[in-house]
This record gives sequence, C-alpha cells and structure tokens, in this order.
Amino acid sequence: MIVGERKPLDEIIEMIKDAKKILIVGCKGCVTVCNAGGSKEVGILASTLRLARLKDNNPLEVDELTLERQCDPEYIEALDEQVPNYDLILSMACSIGPQFISERFPEAQVYPALNTCFMGGSMEHGIWAEYCQACGDCKVHLFGGYCPIARCSKSLLNGPCGGSADGKCEVDKEIDCVWHLIVTKLMKQGKLNQLTQVKPLKNWTTSRDGGPRKIVREDLKL
Ligand code: SF4
Ligand code: SF4
Repeated sequence: MIVGERKPLDEIIEMIKDAKKILIVGCKGCVTVCNAGGSKEVGILASTLRLARLKDNNPLEVDELTLERQCDPEYIEALDEQVPNYDLILSMACSIGPQFISERFPEAQVYPALNTCFMGGSMEHGIWAEYCQACGDCKVHLFGGYCPIARCSKSLLNGPCGGSADGKCEVDKEIDCVWHLIVTKLMKQGKLNQLTQVKPLKNWTTSRDGGPRKIVREDLKL
C-alpha cells in the first residue's frame, strides 16, 4: 500500500491561515490502513485545527468528509456540490488525492495534509517499511524474493557492498541489510550460484526515469 504520514501541524496551520471555512477530505484506502488519513484522522485534525484557531481568536469552520477513494474520479464526483462552499479543501489522501481534486475543481484551493512516503508493508502495529519503488520490471525472484532496489540503501543489483555488520546496513544500523537477507536465504536454498552471474544494467525506462507512466488496458476501457 501507499504509506503516508500527516504533515507537521504547524505546516498545516500555516497553509490554511487565510481560510475561514474548510473541508477536510479523508480517504478510506491506503491512508486509512496506515492510520494517516481515514475518518478517525480527519476528525482528529478537524478538532485540532478548530482548537488551534480558537486559541488565536480566529475561529475556523471545519467540515469533515471521507471518500471511498481519492484516486478514482467517480468518488471525487461526490465533492461536486461541496467544493464551492469552502475557502479551501484539505486532502488527507496520498498526493494523488489533492491532484485529482485540483484537476476536477480548477477554481478550488486544494492543500495536502499528508506527505506520501513510500510503498510499504505493515511490519507490526504502528510500523511500516518500504518494500517497493515501483520500478516497473520486478526482479525479486532473482534475489530470493527480496527487492534490492527498494530495500538496499544503495539499490545494488550486484551486492552486497561489503559494509554490513551483524546483518545491518552500513548506512543506518536500524536497517536490515537486504543483501545479507538475500545471501542467507539463497545459501539455505542451495541456490547461491544464482548470484555468481553479474546482473546486467537495469533498464530504468520502466521506472520513473522514463517519465510519467501510464497503463492502458484496452480490455477494460468502456
Ligand atoms: S524489483 Fe521493482 S517492482 Fe519489484 S519490488 Fe523492487 S522496486 Fe518494486
Ligand atoms: S550494507 Fe547492505 S543494504 Fe546497506 S548499502 Fe550495503 S548491501 Fe545495501
């Protein structure tokens, strides 16, 4: 899923400082799963902003709404009658949300309340970690099921770099060296020879370096 976290409160307060009436829009997708932008977080942010502005003797009217998804036009349509009633819209979705809302409502001021961080998995309650950089040409099967692009600090396809200690990355002792995990797993499977061939240069045009990407599924188009 896409993992996001709320921007610092001071940054949000500064963004909306000129508004008198705002709508906070949450999303029931990924950001609900990672506890960053679902209806609960919308409610908390709304109350916090109302209180912060009351404290400054500058009351703020805040309404709340959480859409099924903000990365889908059919759900953004639900805002058609609402958006004109507000000075600004504060989106609590990943960064696709504020962009979709901005595109549909060119007159509206739309601000992101979250920072979109990475594609990750849930490690345990309250901990998420990056697992994928969406390179568009997945090769995890060559590396024991681990991704050296997203999970090695240097994105080495021909690792390890030799700097790890006790299974931890030399860049940050909190990070597992994914190459340690790759080598350990392939050793256990008796497949270490898989790593003896030098991996060719990766074709990064399927990644972000080829420009913004698009998938067209003719079979699904109406
Ligand atoms: S190889 Fe590419 S698509 Fe596969 S997990 Fe790594 S970054 Fe993601
Ligand atoms: S220590 Fe491991 S994870 Fe860190 S940069 Fe080197 S190979 Fe990559």
